[in-house]
Amino acid sequence: MMTTLPTTAQLTERARTALERCGASGFDAPAPTGQSARTPITGEPLFDIAYSTSAETGQAIGTAHETFRTVWRDTPAPQRGNLVRRLGELLREHKDDLADLVTIEAGKIRSEAAGEVQEMIDICDFAVGLSRQLYGRTMPSERPGHRLMETWHPLGVVGIITAFNFPVAVWSWNTAVALVCGDTIVWKPSELSPLTALACHGLLMRACEDVGAPAGVHQVVLGDRETGERIVDDPRVALVSATGSVGMGKQVGPRVAARMGRCLLELGGNNAAVVAPSADLDLAVRGTVFAAAGTAGQRCTTLRRIIVHEDIADQLTDRIVGAYGQLRPRIGDPFDADTLVGPLIGERAHTALRGALDRVAADGGRVLTGGDRCLEKEAPDAYYVEPAVVRMPSQTEIVCEETFAPILYVLTYRTLDEAIELHNGVTQGLSSAIFTQDQREAERFLAASDCGIVNVNIGTSGAEIGGAFGGEKDTGGGRESGSDAWRAYMRRATNTVNYSDELPLAQGVNFL
Ligand code: NAD
Repeated sequence: MMTTLPTTAQLTERARTALERCGASGFDAPAPTGQSARTPITGEPLFDIAYSTSAETGQAIGTAHETFRTVWRDTPAPQRGNLVRRLGELLREHKDDLADLVTIEAGKIRSEAAGEVQEMIDICDFAVGLSRQLYGRTMPSERPGHRLMETWHPLGVVGIITAFNFPVAVWSWNTAVALVCGDTIVWKPSELSPLTALACHGLLMRACEDVGAPAGVHQVVLGDRETGERIVDDPRVALVSATGSVGMGKQVGPRVAARMGRCLLELGGNNAAVVAPSADLDLAVRGTVFAAAGTAGQRCTTLRRIIVHEDIADQLTDRIVGAYGQLRPRIGDPFDADTLVGPLIGERAHTALRGALDRVAADGGRVLTGGDRCLEKEAPDAYYVEPAVVRMPSQTEIVCEETFAPILYVLTYRTLDEAIELHNGVTQGLSSAIFTQDQREAERFLAASDCGIVNVNIGTSGAEIGGAFGGEKDTGGGRESGSDAWRAYMRRATNTVNYSDELPLAQGVNFL
């Protein structure tokens, strides 16, 4: 709160420089009212941004489809990897530019923005290696003189729909892997983060030029939900990879299924950490504060619930509240190296936070710290808030919802069974953690948590790209990034090859 915010004019210039350096085009185009790129730092518009028309989106899908059919699927995978290798080099070169844009558009503090770009670089490295490791298996055939095997083939056009809060990393997880798998891409970024998308597109187009790959492998279309729906309904899009709220996924999933398309859903979370009596409380406090208040509570993996043993509940809560006190003077300009908490993305997020805190009061909860708006006079259109810690008597309806803002609910438990019951008692299933030094407890939790990500002695946020990322239940079931997540971007064929001069039928069937 001690920082002076930059002006919108300064931010516009900084964004323009970064965009130009990345070779972006299409920003500052004449556009109807409301179609603009804004910054949550001041809450004001930076550039006019024209949304793609339905015809333009259709054309983009057509180009990606044609490039897939005629060139990309037949390009050897290691050669496709070469494009991603070049993209990784350009991302290294332009790390600061992209991080600037992420801070300007999503409001992330500079080190988190740079971390997000680092994730892009890491996934490019991973995908380059992958381009020589798209392995299929060979199985023993039950028939003599036969070979049974599976092979993996490019899928087609991948429609990528992304959320505002990871405006570039989620694109890169999908794109780097999809490109080496032989797919082409149509990307619709969040309407709240078009600039970062134009910059990424600019860099990828440069990589295409440098390695002689066809520019048609990647298309970016700008717009809101309607543009997303155009992609969702197009039968030429083989896979829709959609990241965003549960509500969005519930609309997208059935629509893609209705045309028998494939869907990869990465939706909201309601992540919890269990803190057991044996926990190292120093670790638990640090892990909690970063996971709950970092990114102003706007990560899908943000820690939203802490389920603490009743014997240590007061002690832990006091320490967390104390640590939140140190955050208070460090809320503000995300470019300032001292800032730890930047702005919320906008008014809607602030309204959601206030609404949730009203419901907390009605449910008998107690706000221990935070929840107030700050810097209102300096930036009336921006929404900076003090991260909140709330003690709840039980896991009421509001606790079961994902409020995309920094509210940490504290719940208590008596037995581990009770903690696990509370933990799994929400509809989302993304990330989870236990803080304990008891190996039995840790192992029980690893098996019992119903989330896609289950951690021990580390917070719920900040996953590495090497593992598969995603969650269960309302989180959508999709997996992206590392491990074998690449399989979602390819189709599997099972092949039987007969190299004998007999034709034995499977299962010993006799016929003619
Ligand atoms: P959002 O659901 O409002 O929008 C996400 C994207 O979907 C945007 O591009 C939007 O234009 C598009 N969209 C919305 N409705 C659509 C529809 N019916 N058809 C097609 N496209 C549609 O989400 P947001 O506010 O940008 O992001 C925050 C949410 O995203 C949170 O719930 C967060 O947990 C989630 N998220 C999940 C992950 C993950 O990997 N699981 C990662 C980041 C964010």
